[in-house]
Amino acid sequence: MTLKKIEDYIRTIPDYPKPGIQFRDVTTLLSDAQGFRQSVDALVQLHVGADIDMVAGIEARGFILGGAVAHQLGKGFIPVRKKGKLPAETMGQEYELEYGTDIVEIHTDAVTKGANVLLVDDLIATGGTAEAAVKLIGRAGGNVLGASFVVELPALGGRDRLEGYDIEVLSLCTFEGD
Ligand code: AMP
Repeated sequence: MTLKKIEDYIRTIPDYPKPGIQFRDVTTLLSDAQGFRQSVDALVQLHVGADIDMVAGIEARGFILGGAVAHQLGKGFIPVRKKGKLPAETMGQEYELEYGTDIVEIHTDAVTKGANVLLVDDLIATGGTAEAAVKLIGRAGGNVLGASFVVELPALGGRDRLEGYDIEVLSLCTFEGD
């Protein structure tokens, strides 16, 4: 048996959620036993030897991948959620979308002070969402050491944005275009 490449598990939906966007759908990777395991194993392997204390995942697909990574590393998990979803005291960080702004939140006590954090999401495009999570975790007393994604869209420059914070950015596959 040969292992399929990670990108071959990912389905592309043209013009979703709006015309011109090629949506890289990881649900077809998650629903495949080998695709899911291979991705989580690779995400974990990328950080073997790194001094990680906690894993953060961005709602919603980042919860699935980040939760599995945290479990495998034996670390605690920080959910980074869309505004208004977390029940206890929160802190928020605004970030820019193509049209308008959005806010991500964490619980104010979610991050152990001084913790080195690994950030996980399914995909990095412009890096705006991940950057907001990095700022938030920093404000809460943590330090994002690394950020890992299944998919990277290099044309949108998210990597440069995060590397500007001295974060090691890793991805399992790339797709051209936006
Ligand atoms: P960005 O903040 O521009 O890096 O966008 C990253 C977030 O938006 C991630 O949580 C992705 O799940 C989602 N996203 C952005 N572009 C795409 C795309 N082409 N296909 C699938 N998800 C995307």
